Amino acid sequence: MKVELQNLTKIFPSRNKKSNEEVVAVSDFNLTIPDGKLVGLLGPSGCGKSTTLYMISGLQKPTAGKIFFGDEDVTELSPENRGIGLVFQNYALYPHMTVKQNILFPLQNLKGADKMTKEQMHERAYKAARLVQIDELMDRKPSELSGGQQQRVAIARALVKMPRVLLLDEPLSNLDARLRLQTREEIRRIQKETGITTIFVTHDQEEAMSISDVIVVMKLGVVQQVGKPQEIYDNPINLFVAKFLGTPPINVFDGKVKDGALYIGEEKVLDVGKVNDGRVFVGVRPEGFVPAEDGALTCKLSNVEVMGRDVSIVSSNKAMLSQTIRSIVDADYKISVGAEYVKFNLKPHKVFLFDEYTEERIYFGSQSAPTPIDEEM
Ligand code: ADP
Ligand code: MG
Repeated sequence: MKVELQNLTKIFPSRNKKSNEEVVAVSDFNLTIPDGKLVGLLGPSGCGKSTTLYMISGLQKPTAGKIFFGDEDVTELSPENRGIGLVFQNYALYPHMTVKQNILFPLQNLKGADKMTKEQMHERAYKAARLVQIDELMDRKPSELSGGQQQRVAIARALVKMPRVLLLDEPLSNLDARLRLQTREEIRRIQKETGITTIFVTHDQEEAMSISDVIVVMKLGVVQQVGKPQEIYDNPINLFVAKFLGTPPINVFDGKVKDGALYIGEEKVLDVGKVNDGRVFVGVRPEGFVPAEDGALTCKLSNVEVMGRDVSIVSSNKAMLSQTIRSIVDADYKISVGAEYVKFNLKPHKVFLFDEYTEERIYFGSQSAPTPIDEEM
């Protein structure tokens, strides 16, 4: 099912009667999700991810804008009539019911033409349970399950009605690291197997990167960038997006452009061609540093961590805006651990410039702005 959001906006009235400070939770959100894709809604806490999801589900009414499932305008439709499956962070299972009863529950309330026989319901419940691999646990109570198993039950319950759209709000946040990894792979597998259009909310960039066909990065209710995970990483549209994606995070320096050359501190580090003179923020991805004896950028060496194939170099530079520079280089480069300084050349396609005031990207050399994704995704 194709999902289309048009100018979707949610403004919460002020909680305090005296002040008029309303909260713009979501502002003019436009997105088309083609049938069968998984979209990751990514952003820091409070940026409007859940509110967006709740509007799509029908649990919250938009202040403005429209929502379409296929060609159908569902903006005014109640949640029950939208054909959605919802999974929350806290699994929200009924504690007094068995796993099977929990999964059956959404089917028992179906009315009219949708009403099912006992056998049909049973068959559906087992099918959903098999999909998430909990069909052995059908007679247990939620308290007798691990967190990961409980979340699978919640997913089965969301799938049992064969929803047109699956909505997941930080579904992995309550799981420990290992289970989180495993469950996110499961969700991806289930999504591919069923082909259900899915919106997956998370504040965890790595999670979003690994699971999504397309990521939507949000900040303060406003969509910043929409694109394939790798494209957003390789070509961020502003400093916020550049900083939000990537582990270790991007290194940001105070820089200066003069006569087509980029300077960090007093050192000329790159030719940038036709960029206006002035101060800029310089973002360098950890893999953008190439150690070289006559390297352009001199950094004070703090630590060298060998991690198998790669070497992580921790260093510092006065123009760096946070404490340390983290660079990842090939293990072939022999870095002398005892050295006081390390010099780097920078890979131009791993270096991003940003306007010092607007923090918008400044493209240089062969770089160019990302193309809108809507048509090709
Ligand atoms: P996220 O899921 O990205 O953490 P939310 O969508 O929950 O963010 O919240 C977005 C903004 O809207 C926040 O500033 C939050 O405080 C506010 N907000 C959310 N729900 C309500 C509500 N029911 N009433 C007032 N403000 C709300
Ligand atoms: Mg939320």
